[in-house]
Amino acid sequence: MAALTIEQIPVLRDNYVYLVHDSASGLTAAVDPAVAEPVTAALAVRGWRLTHILNTHHHGDHTGGNLPLKAATGCTIVGHGADAHRIPGIDVAVGDGESFAFGRTAAQIIAVPGHTLGHIAYWFAEARAVFCGDTLFSLGCGRLFEGTAAMMWQSLGRLRQLPDETRVCCAHEYTQSNAAFALTIDPANPALRERAAAVAALRRQGLPTVPSRLGDEKAANPFLRADAPALAAVVGSDDPVAVFGEIRRRKDVF
Ligand code: ZN
Ligand code: FE
Repeated sequence: MAALTIEQIPVLRDNYVYLVHDSASGLTAAVDPAVAEPVTAALAVRGWRLTHILNTHHHGDHTGGNLPLKAATGCTIVGHGADAHRIPGIDVAVGDGESFAFGRTAAQIIAVPGHTLGHIAYWFAEARAVFCGDTLFSLGCGRLFEGTAAMMWQSLGRLRQLPDETRVCCAHEYTQSNAAFALTIDPANPALRERAAAVAALRRQGLPTVPSRLGDEKAANPFLRADAPALAAVVGSDDPVAVFGEIRRRKDVF
């Protein structure tokens, strides 16, 4: 049985657009197409026809390609119903807990407010891949533009419940700078030190550091570890929301 094929397209300065292709049905989705042209080119190389756009949130570096791609292909645009007014060209409104059918498989919608209020993640259980936009990054998390620390901590907690082997398909290549910050918070963590070294080696070769593996994020990403004793000690609180909020605040000014 052929699994979904996932292709990663680097665009703009540090964004990733993903193509998700189901060979059995011929469906192809673009996740968060920041721009249209590199997506069109990648589709042409593969001989795929775009049938869907899956948006995690409304920001322009995730939706900028929506309208031109829809005009060119007639694809169906999927996004959070609460953000229908600010997701260009949206056709299908989804919400937390719903399942979005995609060929023989499906994506489960997980509401992950914090970066924006209408942010969602798409969890393809069968393919063990989560498209989490700007919520969970490798060794980091998104800025709190619209939500609170409590909201984001809860959202990250929902992603943390997914299986360790899950591929974290996040939308930006921020890992190396995230690693530098994480080491200021959790310097003695061997999993973080190892991962920081591996990330530096990948970047020296110009290679992507994402998708990462969720199990590695659980061990090394300080934003998933706000309830760990080591981080409570650094911040001087054992309230995970307070610890998370303080780590996020420090990252904002790092
Ligand atoms: Zn964003
Ligand atoms: Fe972004």
